[in-house]
Amino acid sequence: MFEPDVETRPWAEQQQIDEPDYRRQVAHLFARSRFYRDKLAAAGIKSANDIGGLESLAALPFTEKEELRATRTATDPVGTHLIPPLDEIARIFSTSGTTGTPSYVPLTAEDIADWVRVSSRSYSASGVRRGHRLVSTYGAGPFVAGITLDAFNNIGVTHIPVGSGSTDRLIAAVQLLKADTVALTPSYALHIAEWASERSVDLASSSVERLLVAGEPGGGEPALRAKLEAAWGAEVTEAMGIGDICVSLWGECRKKQGMHFSGRGFVHFELIDPESGKPIALKDGAEGELVYTHLRHRSAPLLRFRSRDHVRLWTSPCACGRTAPRVRCIGRTDDMLIVRGVNLFPTALREIINEFSPSVSGVISIRPRHNGFRQDPPLPVAVELGEAAGGDPELAERIKKRVREALTVTTAVELVPHGSLPRSSYKSRLVDWSQATARNE
Ligand SMILES: [Zn+2]
Repeated sequence: MFEPDVETRPWAEQQQIDEPDYRRQVAHLFARSRFYRDKLAAAGIKSANDIGGLESLAALPFTEKEELRATRTATDPVGTHLIPPLDEIARIFSTSGTTGTPSYVPLTAEDIADWVRVSSRSYSASGVRRGHRLVSTYGAGPFVAGITLDAFNNIGVTHIPVGSGSTDRLIAAVQLLKADTVALTPSYALHIAEWASERSVDLASSSVERLLVAGEPGGGEPALRAKLEAAWGAEVTEAMGIGDICVSLWGECRKKQGMHFSGRGFVHFELIDPESGKPIALKDGAEGELVYTHLRHRSAPLLRFRSRDHVRLWTSPCACGRTAPRVRCIGRTDDMLIVRGVNLFPTALREIINEFSPSVSGVISIRPRHNGFRQDPPLPVAVELGEAAGGDPELAERIKKRVREALTVTTAVELVPHGSLPRSSYKSRLVDWSQATARNE
């Protein structure tokens, strides 16, 4: 463990420990955040005293990413949630927004140091330590994942950055430098497995012992994980963070029962129902969207920030000794489809279809017929055949039946040849909206 005294502290004590930091953070927001002064005043809250402690957090309004973006102007390029003047900011990251203009994530030197600690806890949970040779594929560039590079220094690994987009360079680093750890997205790990199989490169007997996957959900889906572990001959654990709050906020230990919360003392999290916004109690099997509140952030602190990450959570003890709850990300709230009243996450569908591996490759494309999240059954899904799989005429029927049993959703499965669906070496796109049309009702 990176910080055993913190990471084994009883979880029930955490909120009490966080209480004074939270109250100081709220006072800081009232004194200095133009964004929150305006937002809270509009909600009828006039002073930090009106807010109370963490037990009253659920009464406060959520912060949406869109609201932050709406406050950006030529004079406020970051947004009015920025507190210190720009010349006191040590680093400005961007988030990989889907809407063109980037959102900025400013950090003071102290904020950077806090993020590095959180990220170090997270990666140490996966068993990474001094003496390991770690190949990373994250750019040191614009995105918050750059902080993990500092965390690797902090942990003391021998770090071999190869950047993204050069599989040759990555394989050379593994073969020549005998790297034992590779950090990458699950899509890229899958892409390399296919790349190696096409070139008769024996990944499974390489020096790699562990894959640290992050950047998108998928690394925790049992079938995809089993496939990556077999192809690489390595243990797969995952990590997850969120640009506006903190990088690598969650990190999975070697018991592989979900990602432990690594941000204790710096960030408070809640689970909510994404539709009603009501809080969901933290207990084994609970599902909902993660909402985050900074406890001691200096540059651009956020209160009840909606992550849009939908997770399943566990609080039961973990054999590793860490006491923080664990989660598995099921998907993005924004990606959720509702098929005749049933909530469906594209990643959950991929997980079920992957049970048919090696008859299927694991690459799927959901092709909604209508715009918007409400869809009528059957939901069209293209499923790519496995590399050596023939066109078994009953396969589509068996997949359909299994999906209906597991997810109570009716699909129209179309089998397509291996390699015919687009692949991304970074993040996979599971839904193809190009055939969706407006509903005429
Ligand atoms: Zn654990």
